[in-house]
Amino acid sequence: MRRRGCGCAAVGCAIPLVCLLVIFGAVGILTGNWAALAAPKVPAAPPAVADIPTDYLVLYQEAAARFGLDWPVLAAVGRVETNHGRNRNGCDANYAGARGPMQFLEPTFVHAAKLAGISDPDICDPVDAIPAAAAYLKSNGAPDDWRRALYRYNPADWYPPLVLGWAERYGYGARVVWPIEGGRISQRFGPTTFTGEPRLCYRGTCYEHFHDGLDLAAPIGTPVQAIASGRVTIAGRLSDGAVVVEIEHSPGVLSRYGHLESGIRVRVGESVTTGEVIGSVGLTGNTTGPHLHFEIYASGEPIDPLLVLPPSGVPGGSP
Ligand SMILES: [Zn+2]
Repeated sequence: MRRRGCGCAAVGCAIPLVCLLVIFGAVGILTGNWAALAAPKVPAAPPAVADIPTDYLVLYQEAAARFGLDWPVLAAVGRVETNHGRNRNGCDANYAGARGPMQFLEPTFVHAAKLAGISDPDICDPVDAIPAAAAYLKSNGAPDDWRRALYRYNPADWYPPLVLGWAERYGYGARVVWPIEGGRISQRFGPTTFTGEPRLCYRGTCYEHFHDGLDLAAPIGTPVQAIASGRVTIAGRLSDGAVVVEIEHSPGVLSRYGHLESGIRVRVGESVTTGEVIGSVGLTGNTTGPHLHFEIYASGEPIDPLLVLPPSGVPGGSP
């Protein structure tokens, strides 16, 4: 995509708002990261969350926040272990000797409670057992490697996928889709010799020309869809003529869709859902042919969209 503008490497940098967003992001005013989209701290509660008793939900969320975990996964452990305390048989030990809402063996619980800094812990009390479980999972690699941590929690091959399945029902791992179906990649993210791209410093190295998005060539009129749910923060024509939609998925995590046809389907402030059509591929702004210029930014830093979009959707015919 050929652009001119303020050099801030955003879609249609000609407008101050986008420049401000990026500048603010660079100094940390916009917080959050892409992981926050993939695993929102407090997602819009899906219906399955109604399955969790309120006191347990608060305990899961507090413990997860304390240890930097995704609460839906912690809650999913509680679901699989005892259905949030409903199946704990008055805290009697099970066949293997595990007890309490999070089904700890006594020695493991003593260790886990120590990790959580709990004095005089009660294995049967969710107020102690849930933070202990969070601390134990954290010490075994969560959230970076949930599968490993879950396997250490219960060494059975079926256990991690079962827990992660419940976690998804509780909102873990927001679904992400490609912005268009079909089409082909006509320019990738990264440094380029194409002089139409602006100078950009990316991860400590400055490049004379850097493409901060992914170009997807497609016929004019091809529907463009939101890659994930969020709120529309820009919807309109920039001063260079490019029609752009920007969606904020979580604080500071943005996706932008450039060169759209003028008939945008959304307005600023509207909520959109994953896969919702927001506009169509056009030729607006400085462009050499019909394509979608697609960007993802987190905290003011561009992210290679191919790291975020599902691998299964890669359009064919990339250069
Ligand atoms: Zn582009």
